[in-house]
Amino acid sequence: MGSSKWVTPKCAGYKHFKHMANTTKQFTYLLGLIFILSQVLQHSIVAQPITAPLTTLVEVEEADRVENFTNKSILVFTPHPDDETFAMGGTLAKLASQGNTINIIIYTNDNKGSLDLEMTRERLARIRRAEEEKSCKILGIEKENLHWLGYEDGDLEYADPQVLRGKIARYIKLFRPDAVFTLDPGNKDVQWHKTDHRMAANISQDAFIAAEWHLYYPQHYLDEGLESYNVPQVYYYYSQKPNYEIVLTDKEFDLKMRAAAAHVSQFEPSVSKYQPDMPPEVFDGIIKRFSQMNKAESGGYSERFRKR
Ligand SMILES: [Zn+2]
Repeated sequence: MGSSKWVTPKCAGYKHFKHMANTTKQFTYLLGLIFILSQVLQHSIVAQPITAPLTTLVEVEEADRVENFTNKSILVFTPHPDDETFAMGGTLAKLASQGNTINIIIYTNDNKGSLDLEMTRERLARIRRAEEEKSCKILGIEKENLHWLGYEDGDLEYADPQVLRGKIARYIKLFRPDAVFTLDPGNKDVQWHKTDHRMAANISQDAFIAAEWHLYYPQHYLDEGLESYNVPQVYYYYSQKPNYEIVLTDKEFDLKMRAAAAHVSQFEPSVSKYQPDMPPEVFDGIIKRFSQMNKAESGGYSERFRKR
């Protein structure tokens, strides 16, 4: 999910709280309380824009529906090594089980989202990589199909956008996907100041056009023989205006829960003090929360997207 999207702002509320606390000690205590609450929110899946009510469903022929795909190429973009699991782990399990080749492009190494003072960026990057590999394995995706761009957590927006777009366009030309899954640009990513999410959403979107026209990055063909490619189907996850629902089986939902639980370091108590095992009550909380968020119109489980 990434790090440090919540800060103590010097806004109108700051003056209000300062007025409320009439001694320095009280004020310091209040700031500490706000900081702790903000951290709890930051690291809680409750605070993540996972899903939203369905808008009018887009009509798609059965044969063209991505959840019916078999033996096709699927490309997924994720800003951090966990977003794709939380947003569409059930869909990934379904597509993998149907013989589709799934490649996942991971923008950042997610190496800053820890409150553990003994944690280092290098160690957290290793932990998050191992967690992602374990999670994807549960969903049926091998680590050879995970492609790490290696940008530092929270720094994606400071990368050269033209270079970054070229890397993404190259992957599109290389894998020639029948369907792409990526973040929905705009809306809550901007509202929530999810920096890596904003950048990943916009760059992935821009790369569709750059992959379609060879003169954007002619070196892809000249150097590697990679021809231009027009992505036929795009599905946006983390959308506030989903118009497409993929119904999951109980097994697919169960795999998603197990895959989500592999991301131990993303949840308390491992955020505050890293421990490699997830307490059972935390896993129960994950199941409870996702059971609500992935509740389908039909009564089972589903994941929602905005189809382009
Ligand atoms: Zn994220």
